[in-house]
Amino acid sequence: MTVPTVKLNSGHGIPQLGFGVFLVPPQEAEKAVSEALEVGYRHIDTAAIYKNEEGVGAAITKSGIPREDLFITTKLWNDHQADEKPHDAIRASLDKLRLDHVDLYLTHWPAPEKDTYSHAWQKLIEIRDAGLSTSIGVSNHLPEHLDRIVKDTGVVPAVDQIELHPAHQQSDVTEWAAANGMAIESWGPLGQGKYPLFDNPAVIAAAEAHEKTPAQVVIRWHLERGFIVFPKSVHRERIEQNFDVFDFQLDDDQVAAISATDPGDGSGRVGAHPLELN
Ligand code: NAD
Repeated sequence: MTVPTVKLNSGHGIPQLGFGVFLVPPQEAEKAVSEALEVGYRHIDTAAIYKNEEGVGAAITKSGIPREDLFITTKLWNDHQADEKPHDAIRASLDKLRLDHVDLYLTHWPAPEKDTYSHAWQKLIEIRDAGLSTSIGVSNHLPEHLDRIVKDTGVVPAVDQIELHPAHQQSDVTEWAAANGMAIESWGPLGQGKYPLFDNPAVIAAAEAHEKTPAQVVIRWHLERGFIVFPKSVHRERIEQNFDVFDFQLDDDQVAAISATDPGDGSGRVGAHPLELN
């Protein structure tokens, strides 16, 4: 089973399908990531605020998988955007992950009331230049935040990791990405299990047509749309199922029918609004 690679604007490749560990308790993270690595995932998405980087690091170390075969992302939490704190934060994350560099480091939220996200982006550029993260990007940034950091630094993020699933597609951000050579990562790709994606008739019809599950169809929809995706589960069967998506493809009509799910008024959002989380 071959996971496609997306080439980032840094020149480096990222596996298009990975494994996310949001809300995986610290004591369960090592087990979940070990299982994901056994199943074949090589791309892990964590964050300082998830408080499970130690478990991720333990699983990586114990796996014996060569470092160059892995793609590890972590994120700078909002309370570390100012001053030289991003440098402290990446070093703390690397210690916990037992790594000398990550593959991708992201500013987790713009937290616009603090007005330090552009400063944080400048610090991420320094972190990249110091070799502590091969590529750098952002998360939850809207076009206004992206415009500002590019104006201030001249550096386009490799990715913006945003809430994205069929019911909430954030076309303003994806259009900015397409125009500026930035990749999109979908967080909450399954609607975090909160949005009833699996009751969607277009998803069910495609699942029946391909003899796959609704979750597999939704993951495939992200892949067909060119998004980078890392669904989360702590259950072995689902970890396997979510990786078993390379023996079928959705046709254009199926992609279009699923894409039509977005109510277009933001009501499909399941997580925080980027302007409201500070
Ligand atoms: P998700 O959309 O991956 O949903 C996970 C939930 O979907 C599970 O808890 C389970 O209830 C359900 N599920 C998973 N596999 C299933 C299957 N095969 N069948 C049926 N139900 C299934 O949500 P997520 O974990 O929030 O997002 C994925 C990753 O994105 C996270 O783990 C994290 O790495 C990242 N993330 C980033 C941000 C950010 O602000 N940057 C925010 C949230 C998540």
